[in-house]
Amino acid sequence: MKKIALITGVSGQDGAYLSKLLLEKNYKVVGTDRRSARASNWRLKRLGIENKIIFEEMEIGEIYEVDRIFNKYNFDEVYNLAAQSFVGTSFNSPLNTANITGLGVLRILETIKAKNKRIKFYQASSSEMFGDVLENFQSEKTPLNPQSPYAIAKVFGHYMTQNYRESYGMYAVSGILFNHESPLRGEEFVTRKIIIGLIKILKGNLDYLELGNINAKRDWGFAKEYVEAMWLMLQQKKPEDFVVSTGKTYSIKDFINKAVKILNLKTKWTGKGLDEKLLNTSNGKIIVKINPKFFRPAEVNILKGDASKAKKKLKWVPKTNLENLIKIMINDELKFYQDL
Ligand code: NDP
Ligand code: GDP
Repeated sequence: MKKIALITGVSGQDGAYLSKLLLEKNYKVVGTDRRSARASNWRLKRLGIENKIIFEEMEIGEIYEVDRIFNKYNFDEVYNLAAQSFVGTSFNSPLNTANITGLGVLRILETIKAKNKRIKFYQASSSEMFGDVLENFQSEKTPLNPQSPYAIAKVFGHYMTQNYRESYGMYAVSGILFNHESPLRGEEFVTRKIIIGLIKILKGNLDYLELGNINAKRDWGFAKEYVEAMWLMLQQKKPEDFVVSTGKTYSIKDFINKAVKILNLKTKWTGKGLDEKLLNTSNGKIIVKINPKFFRPAEVNILKGDASKAKKKLKWVPKTNLENLIKIMINDELKFYQDL
């Protein structure tokens, strides 16, 4: 008998990679998206799997829609990836973020509890929950200190997942994943924004790229590897939470420096603060400048994860360093690039 998995948020970056992984493992994959999101199945198409998934509509804000899906299938595993996932947007839409990213988790937990407590549940928790970090390396034991409506909603989902595990004996776990990127990353996130921007500049389709706080540091890994950790977390004897990270941290500026080098652009930084700019030394043109519009009301300055528990218990280790990740993103972007 094939195992049946539900992936909420199947149209997103992780939904696409996780679907591919589960299909390779011979699962039947039911993926949910919102009606309005149908057009955005480009990621599944790119991985060549859009016809291998059973699509269902499910707005995670509606308990009746969640209920309907669980009445229709007997799931073995549920991966809750659906979320309003962008920190920037969460400051403008805090209520929607709380409802989708936070309460959405509870709607699924309640449904599992009512229907079949043997269903294994994965919650997509986030390193953003560490926020203004209270320890240099953040592990499963590091206290949370969230700095955005997004992170606060994730903290709610995280604790609810723990609470349902402890209160009702459910196999419910959280993966505290640090930033993970890929050619399938949303265009609003800084890594893909930079790669797309630089390529557009090279092709003559953009004058310059505008960014916010380029001194923030992140622990960036490759999404395709991170979904393997999600699956592993549901295959253990005992349900537990895990940090998934590379343990290395780089600034946005470091990311840009590595990307321009790979693209063979000769550049130099000038100015300070709001006047800081990256110049193309071959033609004197600006490549990057700062626009305060992209600053956040509260910032997470640095994240650096300690994934030693995942290494020990899941035998999971990251394989792609930042330079290779950037190369993968650039190569794919060039392959699929269409002049706008
Ligand atoms: P994406 O933004 O790419 O995907 C999010 C998915 O959620 C999309 O399919 C989106 O659909 C769906 N969604 C949004 N709102 C709703 C709603 N109201 N009802 C149903 N579905 C909805 O995120 P990622 O794939 O990058 O991340 C997956 C999960 O992991 C998210 O929960 C994210 O917060 C979390 N996470 C991600 C990290 C990362 O670095 N990528 C780090 C840590 C955690 P639509 O296409 O309509 O937008
Ligand atoms: P996050 O870690 O989930 O918020 O992922 P993002 O990729 O959105 O942002 C990572 C970091 O890049 C944050 O500290 C942002 O403030 C910083 N950053 C700087 N400029 C930009 C920008 O133009 N867009 C985005 N999304 N982030 C930016």
